[in-house]
Amino acid sequence: MPAPTDGVTALRGTVVTCRDDPFLTDPAKAFAVETDGVVICRDGLVEAVGPASVLLSSVPAGSVEDYSGCLIVPGFIDTHVHYVQTGMVASCGEQLLDWLDRYAFPAEMEFSDPAHAAAMAKVFCDELLRNGTTTALVFCAVYPQSVDALFAEAERRGMRIAEIPGAYVRRQDKTSTVRGVRDSFIYFFKLLAFRRRDAR
Ligand SMILES: [Zn+2]
Repeated sequence: MPAPTDGVTALRGTVVTCRDDPFLTDPAKAFAVETDGVVICRDGLVEAVGPASVLLSSVPAGSVEDYSGCLIVPGFIDTHVHYVQTGMVASCGEQLLDWLDRYAFPAEMEFSDPAHAAAMAKVFCDELLRNGTTTALVFCAVYPQSVDALFAEAERRGMRIAEIPGAYVRRQDKTSTVRGVRDSFIYFFKLLAFRRRDAR
C-alpha cells in the first residue's frame, strides 16, 4: 500500500519562474532558475517553491514525483486564440478572404448550437491544459452561447479566460451577421457588467 501523502504532491526538477517582465528588464534578472527545485502542492494548490535541498525534508515520503531533466514552469498565457476555430486547425492553402469563407465561417456558424459549443469548449480547454496554458484571451463566435459554453468549461477547471465576442462577418450574408455581431457585443458587455458586479 502506498504511504499516505496528506494531499501533498512534490514535483522535483528544474524550476523556472518569472520575477519580472523580461521585455522590460534584463532577462537574466527576470527569470529565476532552480536546477534542483521542488514545487509543493497541497490539495491541488501550490504551497511552496524552492530548492529541493531546503524543502524536500518537509514533505511526506512517497509524495515526490521526480522530473529530473525536465523543466517545471508556471502556466503559459496565450494572448490570442480562437476557440471557435479549433475544428479547422491546420486548414490552409487559400488567400485570407477565401480561407475565411471556406473554413472559418462554416466552423464558427456551428457554434449557434449550444451542444456543439459545449463539446468544443471541452476539447479546447483540454488542449490548452495539455500544452501547459492556464490563461488565455479567447475569441468566440458571434453567438452568445459560444461565450457561455467556454466560460462554463473554464470555470469548472479553474482556468483564467478572457473572452472577446466574435466579429467575423461572412461577405455573402452581411445583414444577418451584422445583427449577430451587434447582439454578440451587447451580450458580451452585459455579461461583463454582471460578472464585475458579481466579483465585488
Ligand atoms: Zn486572430
